[in-house]
Amino acid sequence: MSNKIWLSSPHMSDEGYEKEYIKEAFDTNWIAPLGTNVNEFEKELATKVGSGHAAALVSGTSAIHLALKAVGVSTGDIVLCPTLTFSATANPIIYQNATPVFIDSDYETWNMCPKALGAAFEKYGDKVKAVLVVHLYGLSADMDKIMKICNKYNIPVIEDAAESLGALYKGQPTGTFGKFGVFSFNGNKIITTSGGGMLVSDDEEKIKKIRFWSTQSRDPARHYQHSELGFNYRMSNVVAGIGRGQLKVLDQRVEKKKYIFEYYKKELGSLEGVEFMPINDWNEPNYWLSVITLKGKVRPLDVMEALEAENIESRPVWKPMHMQPFFVEYDYIGSDVSEKLFENGVCLPSDTKMNDEDLERICGIIKGLWS
Ligand SMILES: *Cc1c(COP(=O)(O)O)cnc(C)c1O
Repeated sequence: MSNKIWLSSPHMSDEGYEKEYIKEAFDTNWIAPLGTNVNEFEKELATKVGSGHAAALVSGTSAIHLALKAVGVSTGDIVLCPTLTFSATANPIIYQNATPVFIDSDYETWNMCPKALGAAFEKYGDKVKAVLVVHLYGLSADMDKIMKICNKYNIPVIEDAAESLGALYKGQPTGTFGKFGVFSFNGNKIITTSGGGMLVSDDEEKIKKIRFWSTQSRDPARHYQHSELGFNYRMSNVVAGIGRGQLKVLDQRVEKKKYIFEYYKKELGSLEGVEFMPINDWNEPNYWLSVITLKGKVRPLDVMEALEAENIESRPVWKPMHMQPFFVEYDYIGSDVSEKLFENGVCLPSDTKMNDEDLERICGIIKGLWS
């Protein structure tokens, strides 16, 4: 059987940048959650996305957690959150003993529906403490409309840009519209450090506070002294070295992801019932995953099984949070858009290490289902 093709797997630079930075960490013995790589990775990422400041953390999830804490989310507060996302968006709301209310998607963006968001504000009013926006699969949410609503109610926005590093909305990087932006460097993301995350903001004081919380909230004293709850959430200097190397090839990865999407579109776009994820004029996605929906007699499961038989990974669209056993008890606002996307969607193999031969083979298997 031929080598497995993954949905999206780690892709280190051909130049070996990552190893050079790791070597530096070893040579200087900074094998710790602090050091040059951590400081420089923060600066380099902040510069890349045009944000004032950044805090390097162990995961995207921990970044969402500390962002919620930093905007004051605590027991009993409501946080509005898209239902069509990965569970890591919603879990930190529970860590803070707050209550998620899930918001439907719209077909124009697949992301948070501004109308449903407005309806949620009308229903919950000043119980709402924060809004979490996700840029799913590297497609940006409609930030102008969302920011307008949140500004009207004077509620802070946290952008979960875990999947959208490198994506632009009207020319501006996702993750820089709200009070905080969150990036992830987990193994399947567009760039990876094996695991890691970054929180960005223009608020320097808040970022300093987040670094403090993420290193156990140690007060300045000779002995260990703590006046606040602490977390062990700081990124290690070895991991940050991988991140610095990966950041150098981010643009290349976006370019290849786009190539993959266009390839599928050309080859599969005319098959009956196939539609591609929405690319709006104002959206420059990073094309992290190429996603289609199926309306005809070929079902997502047929595609996934046919690919699996050839050792090729694909996946359903994320299952909405309001349908998850753990989250069913929470309110959900909207109609059935996210449910339909889940029912009809398939994430196609989007690994940047694929070559044209791989893509041709994948398209051949899929087209075979229509003949
Ligand atoms: C991956 C992901 C996260 C979590 O990031 P980790 O670094 O894995 O903790 C959060 N939200 C979304 C939408 C993601 O895809």
